Amino acid sequence: MSKVLIIGAGGVGTVVAHKCAQNPEVFNEIVLASRTKSKCDAIAKAIGKDNITTDSVDADSVPQLVELFKKHNPDIVINVALPYQDLTIMDACLECGVNYLDTANYEPLDEAKYQYSWQWAYKERFEQAGLTAILGCGFDPGVSGVYTAYAAKHHFSEMHHLDIVDCNAGNHGKAFATNFNPEINIREITQRGKYYQDGKWIETDPLSVHRPLNYPNIGARESYLMYHEELESLTKNFPTIKRARFWMTFGQEYLTHLRVIQDIGMASIVPINYNGQEIVPIQFLKAVLPNPKELGQNYTGETSIGCRISGLDKEGKPMTYYIYNNCSHHEAFLETGMQAVSYTTGVPAMTGAMMFLQGKWKRPGVWNVEEFDPDPFLEQLNVQGLPWHEIINEDIEL
Ligand code: NDP
Repeated sequence: MSKVLIIGAGGVGTVVAHKCAQNPEVFNEIVLASRTKSKCDAIAKAIGKDNITTDSVDADSVPQLVELFKKHNPDIVINVALPYQDLTIMDACLECGVNYLDTANYEPLDEAKYQYSWQWAYKERFEQAGLTAILGCGFDPGVSGVYTAYAAKHHFSEMHHLDIVDCNAGNHGKAFATNFNPEINIREITQRGKYYQDGKWIETDPLSVHRPLNYPNIGARESYLMYHEELESLTKNFPTIKRARFWMTFGQEYLTHLRVIQDIGMASIVPINYNGQEIVPIQFLKAVLPNPKELGQNYTGETSIGCRISGLDKEGKPMTYYIYNNCSHHEAFLETGMQAVSYTTGVPAMTGAMMFLQGKWKRPGVWNVEEFDPDPFLEQLNVQGLPWHEIINEDIEL
């Protein structure tokens, strides 16, 4: 018997709950808890299974989390709240003996700074407690790391260049919207770019490096170099990598809106006083932007996310490799009521928890996904709605 506790009832939490409910032989009991219980109740009602219970919690509070964990006694918590809650949830896991999985690395509320150091610092404590923590198990980070581990295991003797390419060729019909939590998304996109080259990190102005890349079944899309958190763990875990970069597509309309938002100060995370009340501009902006959870209905097109890798094959000959998934917004919506960005994050989070519960990814300590065996995870992704494809020794453009 196993029990999973999902924290967060946003777009990603909705998908995780649906996918856990589709796999009752692994997830016998599901608890869905978030700040606003009514959102959990609505998700549970839409799923309509009797093995889901709901609860409320402020995940910024360790005592509240401890109380929740003691009440439900889960085997693993899937944290799909916000990155600000990673450490409080990890602390409560240690206090109550619960295993942990998330999809985004910790960042402090007052500083958009993406690094694993805060969570890697828990390694010894999780080891000593005999608990597993799986970090960054969404799509990117997440599947991007598993793809890289699969390439290393089955194809390459040495990987030299890694480019993670993330294309959303969908259309939600809104003038401007983000596909996941607007605050987290805008903080990520507006920071300086950074990539890894020959042991050093090279910084670039935000979104200043870009080029068209061709995506399967989609065609050419302008792709922008950004920093993304999995570059830190992948270059550490695969030291033959000489260059690692991350690219994401954006449309001109999106970038124009983003520039205006920044120029008028609405992307700021510094609190201001408004009519006697302290507000954070980007949090106010989130309140007026479309809710990413509600974009699914009329969303057309698909996402395409993958890894393009070059290096030496198992015989030592030069090789290029592209492994990717395309996901339709409409099909994701029909299955879970959410668009493909939430879907491609929630399915891997459920799959990682499944790997843990089946004992395939169970190892005391704090780990990034690429440190586990990629094979059973990728086998499941094929079954769970995110099939992947490989292209070998063709032009990978990068
Ligand atoms: P949403 O904003 O839609 O949902 C976040 C949920 O967390 C909401 O239900 C919110 O509650 C809840 N929450 C926020 N703060 C707290 C708190 N203190 N205590 C309890 N619950 C809280 O976000 P998404 O679903 O779009 O994203 C969820 C996570 O997934 C984010 O961390 C994001 O970074 C990550 N992500 C990862 C990706 C990947 O590929 N690795 C891609 C996309 C997202 P309320 O509704 O009350 O505000």
